[in-house]
Amino acid sequence: MKKIIQDYTKEELAQRIKPSFRAKQIYNWVYHRHADSFHEMENLPKALRAELEEEYTLHPLKMVSRQESRDGSVKYLFELHDGHTVEAVLLLMKEAQYHEDGSLKHHRRYTVCISSQVGCKVGCAFCLTAKGGFMRDLSAGEIVAQVLEIYKDRGIPSNHRVNLVYMGMGEPLDNLDNVAKAVRIFSDMDGMSISPNRQTISTSGLSSRIEKLGAMELGVNLAISLHAVDDELRQQLMPINKAYNIASIMEAVRNFPVNQRKKVLFEYLVIKDVNDDLEAAKKLVKLLNGIKAKVNLIYFNPYPGTEFRRPEPEDMRRFQEYLLSKGVLCTIRESKGLDISAACGQLREQNLQKGAEQ
Ligand code: SAH
Ligand code: SF4
Repeated sequence: MKKIIQDYTKEELAQRIKPSFRAKQIYNWVYHRHADSFHEMENLPKALRAELEEEYTLHPLKMVSRQESRDGSVKYLFELHDGHTVEAVLLLMKEAQYHEDGSLKHHRRYTVCISSQVGCKVGCAFCLTAKGGFMRDLSAGEIVAQVLEIYKDRGIPSNHRVNLVYMGMGEPLDNLDNVAKAVRIFSDMDGMSISPNRQTISTSGLSSRIEKLGAMELGVNLAISLHAVDDELRQQLMPINKAYNIASIMEAVRNFPVNQRKKVLFEYLVIKDVNDDLEAAKKLVKLLNGIKAKVNLIYFNPYPGTEFRRPEPEDMRRFQEYLLSKGVLCTIRESKGLDISAACGQLREQNLQKGAEQ
């Protein structure tokens, strides 16, 4: 089987391909010029191009489905070389900016949500990805290629500023080595130049791995999927809480190196009549005391067969207003791409069902 060229950092490529300046040229072709074949790489000697073609692939992913949402978000399903599939989502954020003469222009800001594993071992009760079980880790190149394919599909120039969130399928800290490598490959100045402080790793709270990630000093942002403020409820929703309880997560967060101007993001998935009450909001404020935190309230996104329900907008606002009144930054995540079933695992599930019917 051919090796995946995106699996290698520039330094690793320089070790493998001599003379070593070729690595920088190849990075330029792969990540800036979005080459589709090694033959196109005209500043490389012909013999080298042929060798590369023999040994490596530029296409670890095949796009098998794409759904566009009315709000401009696009959801992708990619097939890996072994037939497994993973999702990634391009989220479009419009941001008001001003021309020099003061007139308003709209600037497109992209956030790409990427997967780190096929399936997930953590098994959260509300998550569709968990239902399919765990298949395997993604390699660094399979993570990187998701973003590359989306750039190519949308014609996004390589110098466009995008944000990355590791919030697709899988638990990134359960695949820490490959995720950390992907962070480095994304941020290479000769590659995509996506700085680590524009990359956010979201975790269900593997405390020991949060400590390990912190010690790596990558400079990435951290997001914690908290979802509940007492251990009993959190354990029901997220079985991982038995191994790593809330106190251990808060301890790991306190030790995490946070960029001066940044905060740790706490995601709170709001489920109707489960965790949407003001008591929970009060406990949350206490829990976050002394932490540079920002809370993101997420509407539970229902899918067929789930017992959980989407919360009422009034309850979301009441929860948010309470946090704000106590000085805790809190946003409600817009249900971007709701019409394309944007919660993680949902497009893949639809496709698997379609496959089963055929
Ligand atoms: N495994 C990591 C990252 C992937 S999940 C984690 O759990 O943080 C990304 C986010 O999607 C998590 O916050 C998760 O709780 C949320 N999510 C899972 N199922 C969802 C659903 N049905 N509706 C809305 N958000 C969901
Ligand atoms: Fe895994 Fe995250 Fe889904 Fe939990 S919410 S099962 S950790 S992907």
